[in-house]
Amino acid sequence: MSTARDIAADVRSGRRRARDVVEEHLARIATREDELHAFNLVMADAARAAADRVDRAVAAGEDPGPLAGVPVALKDNLCTRGVPTTCSSRILEGWRPPYDATVVTRLVAAGAVVIGKTNLDEFAMGSSTENSAFGPTRNPHDPSRVPGGSSGGSAAAVAAGFAPLALGSDTGGSIRQPAALCGVVGMKPTYGGVSRYGLVAFASSLDQIGPFALDVADAATLLEVIGGHDPADSTSIPEPAPRLLGELDRGVEGLRVGILTELCGQGIEGIAPDVRARVDEATAALAAAGAVVEEVSVPSSTLGLSAYYLIAPAEASSNLARYDGVRYGLRVDAPTTGEMNTATRTAGFGDEVKRRIMLGTYALSAGYYDAFYGKAQRVRTLMIEEFAAAYERVDVLICPTSPTTAFPLGAKTADPLTMYLNDVCTIPSNLTGHPAISVPFGTGDDGLPVGVQLLGPARAEPVLFRAAAALEAAAPPTPRPAGAEVVS
Ligand code: GLN
Repeated sequence: MSTARDIAADVRSGRRRARDVVEEHLARIATREDELHAFNLVMADAARAAADRVDRAVAAGEDPGPLAGVPVALKDNLCTRGVPTTCSSRILEGWRPPYDATVVTRLVAAGAVVIGKTNLDEFAMGSSTENSAFGPTRNPHDPSRVPGGSSGGSAAAVAAGFAPLALGSDTGGSIRQPAALCGVVGMKPTYGGVSRYGLVAFASSLDQIGPFALDVADAATLLEVIGGHDPADSTSIPEPAPRLLGELDRGVEGLRVGILTELCGQGIEGIAPDVRARVDEATAALAAAGAVVEEVSVPSSTLGLSAYYLIAPAEASSNLARYDGVRYGLRVDAPTTGEMNTATRTAGFGDEVKRRIMLGTYALSAGYYDAFYGKAQRVRTLMIEEFAAAYERVDVLICPTSPTTAFPLGAKTADPLTMYLNDVCTIPSNLTGHPAISVPFGTGDDGLPVGVQLLGPARAEPVLFRAAAALEAAAPPTPRPAGAEVVS
């Protein structure tokens, strides 16, 4: 399969037409999309038109940009002007945003071709994409398994060869965990590194948009395009995006790598032995490449899950108050405004979203605020301090992305708590606001992909990508799902 870099280079030089690239990807979508359901919407005609614009620019001697003619799939919680943006929820039925998210504007300006909107857990709440109101996405490596979530559609689209690049959002692991389960690269940038303008809010102090790609260099290419200051997002860091591509070949000689002991299984249960073995091999590979490896303990990292499942629902309960039957999408009529609000929200939200709203409202209620929300915020501060201390000793930390490989559909839907446990290794970086990347590294005993996670301090993207490139270079070949390699 071509990387995004190859496609852009070919299209910019006129060796390949963007239109042909789109047709190849649409053909692959036609082959497997019915089975996988990666997309809520395939934008075939719009993609063809966008590709033709790129080809005309090339013919006119203009440079369409670093992603010229590259198909990109967008998680369906990213606003696209005039194009349905559903968050995989019935409550947004019929809503068409009047504006594009900043990341979408930047993609188009870079010559990318938006090929569709991908399925997700409703409002990005979940770890398997089974909470979509429109039915689950399946893992391209084994359709009886989940692709992870909540950005399962984006991860599956890249793994299946439907698009070489995709965007997701990561509030507690929703880019990294599905990337791991689908055998692709997924990265959560530093909080504020990528504009959230036009990302439908779940938990605003945690949400970040980030790239999915087939390899580390493609992920870096995409992040360079979407990152950097945006005055439309008040939490956006007022600096340009860090340059990453020049870092990838620098190697890891002398780089200090810390094995995050708690998240490797010495403080939490449930890290599968085969996953742990891949992390050990990845660490050994970095050491063989010249990195200096030591064990690092961050005791509070085990508290992240509990703090997250108070803070994230608290913010969600506030953010989702806007779906009142008046301003967006669905309305279920009733005699009074209050009854209309209730009827709309009852019909429009799925069970997990309702559960989060109730949890969050409870955690914020007057009698419990200090005991729950306040305490969770204190834990968050403790984690930030302990991770800061760890990064005095090492440049990056290493641990699993997900405790297991992809699990069967339905295996965890009956018990929300077991589903939440999936996020134990990814959540700390959301609470601290730090960047983290998942890189495919071998397979589990079941033959399914394993992701190894690298964590760094705020704005450490250059060093994180450098270490990720070294990890990728040392990794066994990642299996490709059936059909994904058919078109070059
Ligand atoms: N799985 C986590 C949750 O359900 C994380 C979701 C996300 O990152 N959007 O909240």
